Amino acid sequence: MRNYDAIIIGAGIIGLSLAIELNKLGLKVLLVEKGESGRESSWAAGGMLCDFPLETLPPLQELASASAAMYPEFVHELQDESGLKIDLRSQGTLLFVDPNHEAFRNECQLPSFSTAESLASLEPALRLSNGGAGAKLSALYLKERCVDPRDLTAAAIAATRHRGIDFSSGDHVLAVEITDGKATGVRTKKTDFSAKMVVNCAGAWAGQIGPHAFPTRPVKGQMLCVIMPEKELVRHVVRTPDVYLIPRSDGRMLIGATAEEAGFDKQTVPETIQQLRQAALDLVPKLAEARFLDAWAGLRPGTPDRLPILGATETPGYFVATGHFRDGILLAPITAKVMAEIMTGKHPSVDVSNFSAGRFAV
Ligand SMILES: Cc1cc2nc3c(=O)[nH]c(=O)nc-3n(C[C@H](O)[C@H](O)[C@H](O)COP(=O)(O)OP(=O)(O)OC[C@H]3O[C@@H](n4cnc5c(N)ncnc54)[C@H](O)[C@@H]3O)c2cc1C
Repeated sequence: MRNYDAIIIGAGIIGLSLAIELNKLGLKVLLVEKGESGRESSWAAGGMLCDFPLETLPPLQELASASAAMYPEFVHELQDESGLKIDLRSQGTLLFVDPNHEAFRNECQLPSFSTAESLASLEPALRLSNGGAGAKLSALYLKERCVDPRDLTAAAIAATRHRGIDFSSGDHVLAVEITDGKATGVRTKKTDFSAKMVVNCAGAWAGQIGPHAFPTRPVKGQMLCVIMPEKELVRHVVRTPDVYLIPRSDGRMLIGATAEEAGFDKQTVPETIQQLRQAALDLVPKLAEARFLDAWAGLRPGTPDRLPILGATETPGYFVATGHFRDGILLAPITAKVMAEIMTGKHPSVDVSNFSAGRFAV
């Protein structure tokens, strides 16, 4: 049986980022992945790096803003180590909100667009009247970035390999091994691995691995991707209460997304995809000329209070980093940093006590 300092269960963006961080600190790390690395929620995501207070739960704000600030460096390092290009865009977001929203009225100091003309000068393809985006909603400009999560995970996988981090792929972890009350490794479908520490980064599946039944559940998101008729037809991320549009630098556009309680089902439903497409057309009529590329569904790791589960568990040597719900791409750099600090006995640079597994009786 091979020995490791740390075994990470799940090679999504959270597990991959943490593996790199622990490796930087000199730990010998093994990633165990039941399927293909980076092919679950992290592959399905849109990649908006949203830390805007109106849309971020207050307990998550500090973590979200810290992570958003880390992104340029995070991407730069991954590109450097992997030799792969990551599409990180800084054009910003146009957020359409109900102007009667209390939080908007009380707190919002951001630049907003009082006239359709000022908005049209920024994003000419948007339909701003007759029921379009501008009809009842106010538009805000947010300086947030967005990233292509598939580029990101591909680069993270390449960087982990470059660093000599071990993988056991296609290997399902059945349980965390406990000896004398401490975590000592994992039992998989293929074999056993031993380690001083084990960390559960299994996303929506995290609750299925004993001994602790973390209350994670899958929240299904369907979305589609089209090729814009002109590469820069839309430059900003556009978010309305019904739909969001995420342009990529190569001319693709993602249109998303549903949030459904559908268990572990990842099928797309043609009618649902058509509804999303129609909502996008209502916003940007020229998308009628866009070519359909693909549609998919992914499973966000949800928790009862919509907050992640981060830190040590009550079993010494066993840690957890999951439940990132809609924000796991955004939260990957800070999660990796804080978890590596906790696992190596340092004081975490951001307080994560709100996110402890202990808030649930598991
Ligand atoms: C449609 C959609 C849109 C999204 N948009 C955004 C967005 O714009 N911005 C943002 O920040 N976030 C977004 N998210 C959320 C984001 O994708 C997730 O929060 C994030 O990917 C979670 O990463 P993870 O590594 O925890 O999970 P995952 O990527 O799901 O990885 C978990 C891994 O664990 C593995 N695993 C599970 N059980 C076992 C086991 N027993 N043994 C071994 N391996 C196991 C799985 O196979 C998987 O590879 C979106 C999600 C969806 C579905």
